[in-house]
Amino acid sequence: MRLFSATIATETNTFSPLPTSIDGFKESVFLRPGEHPEDAPRMCTAPLFVARQRAAAEGFTLIEGSCFAASPAGSVNRADYEFMRDEVLDQLRAALPLDGILFGLHGAMVAHGYDDVEGDLLERARAIVGPKCVIGVEYDPHCHMTLKRVRNADIIICYKEFPHTDVVDRAEDLLTLVLRTLRGEVKPVMSLYDCRQIGSYPTTLPLMRGFVDRMMALEGKDGILSVSAIHCFPYADVAELTGRILVVADGDKTKADALATRLGEEFVSMRGKTMPEFFSPGVGVRTGIDFNDAPVVIADPADNAGGGAPSDNTTILRELMAADAQDAAIGPIWDPIAVKLCFDAGLGARFPLRFGGKIGPASGQPVDAMVEVTALARDCWQSFGPTKVTLGDCAAVRIGGIDIVLITNRTQALGLELFTNLGIDPLTRKLLVVKSTNHFMAAFGPIAKKVIYVESDAPLARDYTKLTYTKIQRPIWPLDAETSPGLIF
Ligand SMILES: [Zn+2]
Repeated sequence: MRLFSATIATETNTFSPLPTSIDGFKESVFLRPGEHPEDAPRMCTAPLFVARQRAAAEGFTLIEGSCFAASPAGSVNRADYEFMRDEVLDQLRAALPLDGILFGLHGAMVAHGYDDVEGDLLERARAIVGPKCVIGVEYDPHCHMTLKRVRNADIIICYKEFPHTDVVDRAEDLLTLVLRTLRGEVKPVMSLYDCRQIGSYPTTLPLMRGFVDRMMALEGKDGILSVSAIHCFPYADVAELTGRILVVADGDKTKADALATRLGEEFVSMRGKTMPEFFSPGVGVRTGIDFNDAPVVIADPADNAGGGAPSDNTTILRELMAADAQDAAIGPIWDPIAVKLCFDAGLGARFPLRFGGKIGPASGQPVDAMVEVTALARDCWQSFGPTKVTLGDCAAVRIGGIDIVLITNRTQALGLELFTNLGIDPLTRKLLVVKSTNHFMAAFGPIAKKVIYVESDAPLARDYTKLTYTKIQRPIWPLDAETSPGLIF
């Protein structure tokens, strides 16, 4: 058996002021065949990672393709996308004959001229390998599960956890199902239910936790092979942005249809009940300071680089400064120029620094302050579950009782290393402010005595009716009160 694996991935916020070029991929994940590290998967590369580990024991040959992934930002440069796509498709052609493909995709990538990048890639891949080759795809649940993708793949599995701590587990599931299909043990059929809704569904809150637990309990018995909940990625103006339920069953389309419909109706009934409570920056910071235990973690989801935000909004930092917060730390603020200035100033230097507030109106104003450079570190990393994410060169500066982590490679707060790389022990802090929607919960949830979600004026508004969609299929909740959910595949 011959299996091919490759990755082209990012999450495109079409409202973001930051364009994505091939340089964004080179900064994050840009690995040619054979170059993937042994230690851990990178963003969206888990299918290749697990296939490499299992190839010998399971008796298949893995042909490694390229892996390209970039931190979320605005639409991808058209020529750069076509370059990466064509490289992967050329590798695919050269690898023929193939029995199976394992794609590690994010599923919310948009390039100029391509609103459905993954659909484009899959359609071209299918045309090359033909109908018999088993195409399996792992997606992030914050994706647009278009009909074109479902038509051009045999097995689709999304991560179930948000924070996405199960990327390797789901890649294992995908490889297992592709292999079982190739061995003739199962005949996957898929059904897709469109819930016609935009929402956010952290699995750290009880309602979605229970839903995911029920999904998982259904798998592996009674002919059900896999169940995925597609959360959608709200910050993209594309036609098929919507929450969907996808079921993979063994040969029985009627059974897949029935389960997708039942779970889809349940998902619809959860509208408006799956998000945490949000506070204004002033109330959030004051609540954190007044809380009688530590650390308190304050999240700034609106400036989450993982959703394409610049991660340089200064509003919550200003609240900390105005409140003269003590034993506080905030990160990451993406400002490569400020990091360079700190390296130039040197460890221990006190100097006037302007930082943050640069990329767009939703970044707010920059902060001008006399800072002390308290730590400098080159080529930093943070972990996110089993994956590693680069931060680039980092600097920590102190203003009063507040430590600020400045980073070079734009990404959200994921691992405690964001702070410990710079000698800041999160456990000793009263307040930790993290720019992230919910992925921070994997590492910061276990140490937090309290978690406060703040709605700042950064670009990722929680109120989706504020977004200026033009291409999205209507009606859809909460933009429209009346919708018509139903089975579409
Ligand atoms: Zn996601």
